[in-house]
Amino acid sequence: MPEQVEPVDLLAIGAHPDDVEYGMGGTLVRHHHVGHRIGVVDLTRGELGSKGDPQRRADEAHHAAEVYGARFRTCLDLGDTQVDHAPDRVRRLAAVIRAARPRVVASHQVADRHPDHRAAHELVRRAVFAAALSSLDLGVAHHVVDGVVSFPTDRVIAGDLYIDVSDVWDERRETMHRFASQFTAPTRDIDHRLYGIDDYLEVVTTRARAHGQRIGVRYAEAFVTEQGVPIDDLVELFART
Ligand SMILES: [Zn+2]
Repeated sequence: MPEQVEPVDLLAIGAHPDDVEYGMGGTLVRHHHVGHRIGVVDLTRGELGSKGDPQRRADEAHHAAEVYGARFRTCLDLGDTQVDHAPDRVRRLAAVIRAARPRVVASHQVADRHPDHRAAHELVRRAVFAAALSSLDLGVAHHVVDGVVSFPTDRVIAGDLYIDVSDVWDERRETMHRFASQFTAPTRDIDHRLYGIDDYLEVVTTRARAHGQRIGVRYAEAFVTEQGVPIDDLVELFART
């Protein structure tokens, strides 16, 4: 799994290794299956997480990204719990977005428990904006992203968009199983809340069932977007076959 950024169709940006799998693993698998090129940016190494060490998490992250054929997975190493939208960080992420030239960027929604997730939402917004500024010299040609969507990691939401991931559910689970240190290792004493393997998978499954119910399928992942979604045909939009 290369770390070198290359052009992709869908760029997923998470605060910590495993966030994009946790929030949109099925969507990544599904988009891989239809031929879209996928790239992943982890903003931090997750070095303050209560499970696993950073090197193991990095190895697992690359292993997980193989499930959905990611073209690259790179880490900006901004510092766990230190994510913010300082100008130098906006420019760093904007340069990555320019190099990746995605049509769609997916990242955290603003309302999430972890402060890094909230901060990531704002950082990504600003970086997408900066990436499009032709007068801003970042050493890479400017790039305009078509769409920005946001996913939850710790709650069921009223989404603007729902993606049916029922057909790829086994692979979606596999993306999480590959983070063995997070989802299969015993929970340490420090972390006695509901964060064991069974809890994680049950939460993800329950959430996907709840989101799926909204569109009449078994499993779905929900996204919110701050932009209008252009639609050509209402009948086709809601067609079930
Ligand atoms: Zn996270």
